[in-house]
Amino acid sequence: MNKARHAPSVLETFPVEKGELMIAGIPITRLAKRVGQTPFYAYDRQNITQRTAYLRKHLPDEIHLHYAIKANPMPAVVQHLAGLVDGFDLASGGEMRLALDTGMSADNISFAGPGKSTREIGSAIAAGVTLNLESATELETVARLGEEQGIKPRVAVRVNPDFELKSSGMKMGGGPKQFGIDTEQVPAVLKRIGELEQDFQGFHIFSGSQNLRPEAIIEAQEKTFALAYRLADDAPSAVYKLNIGGGFGIPYFPGEQPLEIIPIGERLNDLLEEKAKQLPEAKIIIELGRYLVGEAGIYVCRVVDRKISRGQVYLVTDGGLHHHLAASGNFGQVIRKNYPVLIGNKMENSETETVRIVGPLCTPLDILADNMTLAKAIAGDLVVVFQSGAYGFSASPHHFLSHPPPLEVLV
Ligand SMILES: *Cc1c(COP(=O)(O)O)cnc(C)c1O
Repeated sequence: MNKARHAPSVLETFPVEKGELMIAGIPITRLAKRVGQTPFYAYDRQNITQRTAYLRKHLPDEIHLHYAIKANPMPAVVQHLAGLVDGFDLASGGEMRLALDTGMSADNISFAGPGKSTREIGSAIAAGVTLNLESATELETVARLGEEQGIKPRVAVRVNPDFELKSSGMKMGGGPKQFGIDTEQVPAVLKRIGELEQDFQGFHIFSGSQNLRPEAIIEAQEKTFALAYRLADDAPSAVYKLNIGGGFGIPYFPGEQPLEIIPIGERLNDLLEEKAKQLPEAKIIIELGRYLVGEAGIYVCRVVDRKISRGQVYLVTDGGLHHHLAASGNFGQVIRKNYPVLIGNKMENSETETVRIVGPLCTPLDILADNMTLAKAIAGDLVVVFQSGAYGFSASPHHFLSHPPPLEVLV
């Protein structure tokens, strides 16, 4: 892998020594003993640090980096990121408590998401967190709760743009959406923000997620700036913040290549020159989730049984879909593909075989790897699922089948 063109890759993050996968210098079997149980998630602190440093190096200095907490809300991870990024983006009141506990200034925290409760809105107003408005009705609720508290709420308009981020894993803008206010409706909402004398901050324009094509991200960013300039004509004050979304993806499946950041940074330099003329007061924010934490995490479970059914070798583990829904292929994937999986204590010189790795749940959906050729494993060996630092632990149905939950460690 070309180091100059990508952030540190998985194999650099998790080297191998004496046949064992190493995480933060600890052999995987020893880490399993330290954690005290399988299954568990382990996140590599240094990898998270390196990835933010890599972004800082290749994106313009002026860009404010935010972490979208929903990717991985483990408190230690969020605390670590508080020292590395410029702000947090929240999607719930629970995430707001996590964010505020880190000491991150409320000036640099924004709260998006449809259907915010009055309790969440009230807390955000009291905290001084910026509310990214998802509808005209939400604005009325915010204004009423602000008046009750005697505080001018900080608001931004989340825009549902009239374009989408092309070839994205998840499209979150364009067409009818539950997210944001349609471009066409934004001028009326801006007028109302002025009438209600809210503390207008700016715009949030998020058009998609999990993208590996720099040219698609660049195109969406160009359109995002252009849209913001148009909308700013109707703003009740200067635009102080422009959150241009993120969408930076990570490679999960065979054939996928890491996203190249350098061309994105280069184009942003030009876009920022124009921005300085059009919206001189605006801070430009990029919000990222999985790009910052996804590759730093592994999920580790243990083989408890090996059986052969009509010629197919099954490795049955103590972990599965209930802990890691995405790796099972049931978190929005159309076609099931294998996450990168290895036998963590047999990384070298092992005999291999082609296996299906399944969990303990009584459902055929509980698959961690299908038709993968791996080191020949027996009961007691450790199955490692890579690219598990985002949308793993917190995006899985732990209660399904009433097995114990996994643990999480930041090492
Ligand atoms: C989920 C989400 C993100 C993070 O997405 P990633 O693909 O993890 O980078 C960023 N912004 C918003 C508004 C989101 O909902």
